[in-house]
Amino acid sequence: MMIENHLFEALFEMIPFGVYVVDIETYEMVFANRTYRETHGDWDNKACYEAIYKEDSPCYYCKIQQLIDEQGKPNNKTLIFERFNEYNERWYQHHEKTLCWPDGRVVKYTIEVDISASKVMQNQLAEAHALLALKNKELMEINRHDELTKVFNRSHLNHVLAEQIYNMERYQSLFSVVLLDIDDFKKINDTHGHLVGDTVLVEMTRLISSNIRQFDCFGRWGGEEFMIITPHVKSMDDTKFFVEKLCTIIANHDFATVGHCSCSLGVTHCTPNDTMISVVKNADDALYFAKAHGKNQVVVYDELAQK
Ligand code: GH3
Ligand code: MG
Ligand code: MG
Repeated sequence: MMIENHLFEALFEMIPFGVYVVDIETYEMVFANRTYRETHGDWDNKACYEAIYKEDSPCYYCKIQQLIDEQGKPNNKTLIFERFNEYNERWYQHHEKTLCWPDGRVVKYTIEVDISASKVMQNQLAEAHALLALKNKELMEINRHDELTKVFNRSHLNHVLAEQIYNMERYQSLFSVVLLDIDDFKKINDTHGHLVGDTVLVEMTRLISSNIRQFDCFGRWGGEEFMIITPHVKSMDDTKFFVEKLCTIIANHDFATVGHCSCSLGVTHCTPNDTMISVVKNADDALYFAKAHGKNQVVVYDELAQK
């Protein structure tokens, strides 16, 4: 038995990870190798919870019960798990199994691998991932919005237009497109300067934003021109009513520094043959007509033929 004992101990002693053996009934430390001793120090006559974790009773996370069956016999399972040792503040991966020790006792032997370095790297990696996801989200927001007015930009409007065309073809969901251009905006810049012009653009977008439906998509098409995409509208009448109202609200608004300022609006309601290009062109034709015929008004593309 002594020879067998020495053989076990000699084999375990050589392993460059902490190895320790515990009596599964008494928790008494039966053996610990060199790496264990260098890490946790002296173990003679101590229980494992005392020697390793400096506790005075079995640890609540002790896995011995998982290594034996209902009759208390070893079940031959191997457990692998990670555990943070709060006493020496290091992470270990544990490999645990039962074994019949040469003196006849059933023991649990554990190999503990110090994984603290890879845990630090894992945590750094997770933090870097989280930061990257956050930056990515910020970047996506920036990519969708106009820098000055903070409303959606042309690229996002195009994306929504494509989506609406798809929904129309797939689900027969109809929508309208409104192009809105500030009247005589150049004069505002010329009279009050570009900075004031900028503040008018911002005030205009706030005014429009607060007078459209929650699910309408509003953005800057370019310069002093804006687009409103209104999904789920059954007929042109629905859109026309709200656009006429918007035109009046803008014309009656008292803008800081510049006072009154109007807009012209071109509106089109999609038809099954429409494409992204045709809806924009139709709204633009209507807007052009509104500009050419006195500004500060709404022109509906479908009614152009009668004008
Ligand atoms: P119309 O009624 O025919 O639309 O006349 P308009 O003067 O509004 O149109 P025009 O196309 O002649 O001039 C638009 C001006 O808008 C010219 C351009 O310098 C100005 N503009 C475009 N983007 C900005 C901007 O971001 N800030 C400022 N301040 N001005 C801008
Ligand atoms: Mg203009
Ligand atoms: Mg313009």
